[in-house]
Amino acid sequence: MTGAADTAQTAGTAQAAGTAQAAGTAEAAVTGAEYLRRAASLFPGGVNSPVRAYRAVGGDPPVIARGSGATVTDVDGVEYLDYVGAFGPLILGHAHPAVTAAAVAELEAGGPFGATTPPEVELGEAIREAMPSIERLRFVSSGTEAVMSALRVARAATGRELVLKFEGGYHGHSDGLLAQAGSGLATLSLPASAGVPSAIAAQTVLARYNDLASVEAAFQRHAGRIAAVIVEPVTANMGVVAPVPGFLEALCELSARNGALLVFDEVITGFRVARGGAQARYHVTPDLTVLGKIIGGGMPVGAYGGRADLVDLVAPAGPVYQAGTLSGHPAAMAAGAAALRLLGAGLYARLERLGASLEAGLVEAAAAAGRRVSVGRVGSILTLFFRDPAPRDFDEVREADAHAFARFHRAMRASGILLPPASQEAWFVSAAHTEADVARTIEAAREAFER
Ligand SMILES: *Cc1c(COP(=O)(O)O)cnc(C)c1O
Repeated sequence: MTGAADTAQTAGTAQAAGTAQAAGTAEAAVTGAEYLRRAASLFPGGVNSPVRAYRAVGGDPPVIARGSGATVTDVDGVEYLDYVGAFGPLILGHAHPAVTAAAVAELEAGGPFGATTPPEVELGEAIREAMPSIERLRFVSSGTEAVMSALRVARAATGRELVLKFEGGYHGHSDGLLAQAGSGLATLSLPASAGVPSAIAAQTVLARYNDLASVEAAFQRHAGRIAAVIVEPVTANMGVVAPVPGFLEALCELSARNGALLVFDEVITGFRVARGGAQARYHVTPDLTVLGKIIGGGMPVGAYGGRADLVDLVAPAGPVYQAGTLSGHPAAMAAGAAALRLLGAGLYARLERLGASLEAGLVEAAAAAGRRVSVGRVGSILTLFFRDPAPRDFDEVREADAHAFARFHRAMRASGILLPPASQEAWFVSAAHTEADVARTIEAAREAFER
C-alpha cells in the first residue's frame, strides 16, 4: 500500500480530457463504503457475481477504481498487488497499452455492426494457429454460453443426451452443468442450485477428476448414452489441480472407445498454461474446445470450436441453432487479437519462472512457520491449499482448511496483496508481475503464516 494516495492522484491526472478529469474527481469523493451500501440495495448480495462478496474470507470487498500492470487501486486510494487478474483474462496485467488501444480503435470505428468484421477473422485465425484441433470455431459472449453451445453440438453429433463432468469442475452456470453428486459417484446427479430442474440435472453424470475407474464405471452404467465428456484439463475452479500423468490421454481413449466426444473446457487454461492451452502442454487432442477469458483480452467473450465436421453442424451451416447479438464484438475481438499477438514463448517461460518462485517461496515460508500447506500449480496459475499433500480430486480439495485460508487472505490484504477471495480459486500471475513482486508476496506470506 505504498503511496496509495499519490498513485491514485497520478492515475487521476493521467486521464486526459476535462470530462474524464471531472468524473475522476467526483468518483474520488464517494468512498468505497458508500458504494458498497448502494450496491447492497441494488444487487443480490451487493454483487454481480457471487465470489466478489467476500463471504468466504470476510471483510468488506474492495471497490476497485482502476488497475495498471500488476496493481489495482480501490476508490479510497488503497493500492494492491493483484493476483485476482479478473479471474483469468488478464495474462498481460491491467490496462496493457496495446490491448486497450486495439479495443478503443474498434469502439471509435463505430462497432458493433451485426456483421462480419476484420478483428473476428484475425482472432479466429490466431486461435486456430495456436490450437490446430480447432479447425472451425464460433465466437459467443461468455464461457457459459460457449459450453452450452459446445454440448449442444456434441449431443447433435452423437444423438445422445447425457454429459459426463467431473466433481469440482466448473463450466459456467447453465442449468445442466450446475449438478452435484447424487447418491454416489457416477450416478445421475442432483441440482447444485435452486431453480435447476431435476430432469435437467439428471442429464449430467459425475465422475471423479484424476480417477479413470470412475469414468469407466460411468460409461458402463450409461452405456451408449453419454454424448460428451467435459473436463477442465487442469482444474482451476476447485483450486489448481494438475492431471496425473496419463489421465487426459486415457480420457481421450475412453471417450473415443465409448462413442463420446471429448470436450476440453480451456476457458482458463487456453493461452494460459501454454499458448496452445492444456492440449498443447499435455499433447492430448480433444474433439471440441471451449475458450473464453484470455481470448477477449479482458472484454466479454467465449468461443467453441473443434473438428470441422462437428462445428459445421451449427447454423446456418447445419441444424444446431446458436446465435448472439453481440457475438464477435469488434472491441472484444480486437482486444483479444492484440493480447494473443504478445503471447510468445519467451513470455510463457517467464511466467513459468515467476510461478515456480512463488510456489517455492510459499512452501518454504509455510514450512518455516510450521504450517502444513501445499501448492497446486501449472505455469502461472496456482492455489495454496491448507492441506498437505496437494489434492488430486474434489474430495481432497474439500479437506483443505478454508478457515485458515480466510485468515491468510485477510493478513495478505492488510499487507497490500489481493488474493482471490476463496480457498478454491486460482491465483493468476501475469506478465506484469516481477520477481520483486513475487519476493514481496513471499515476505507478506511469511508474516501471515507466522501470525
Ligand atoms: C470462467 C469459466 C467458465 C465460464 O465463463 P464465463 O465467461 O464466466 O461465463 C467456464 N469454464 C471455465 C473452466 C471457467 O473458468
